[in-house]
Amino acid sequence: MEKIKKVPMRRCIGCRETKPKKELIRIVLSPENKIFIDLKGKANGRGTYICYNDKCFIEALKKKRISYALKTEIDTDELDRLKTEINVLLKQETMPGSGR
Ligand SMILES: [Zn+2]
Repeated sequence: MEKIKKVPMRRCIGCRETKPKKELIRIVLSPENKIFIDLKGKANGRGTYICYNDKCFIEALKKKRISYALKTEIDTDELDRLKTEINVLLKQETMPGSGR
């Protein structure tokens, strides 16, 4: 008999779809008020999730859903940094043979 594994699900703040946590990028607001991408999904702080695609990220940016979800104001510099980091991540994801 096969056991059914419970996959933790989270909702993307871009498209609002619920997906397995593993398929989403976690953005965290640390207790020190730093915003960063939590690749391991284990960092302390308030987190929010977004799909591995720039459409969702742009959508979330436009509607200010990241700051809303994290209940904080994010300044432009921080957002730019986040944008860069996510772009790097997205490029890696679409690279053939990345072994994921
Ligand atoms: Zn999405």
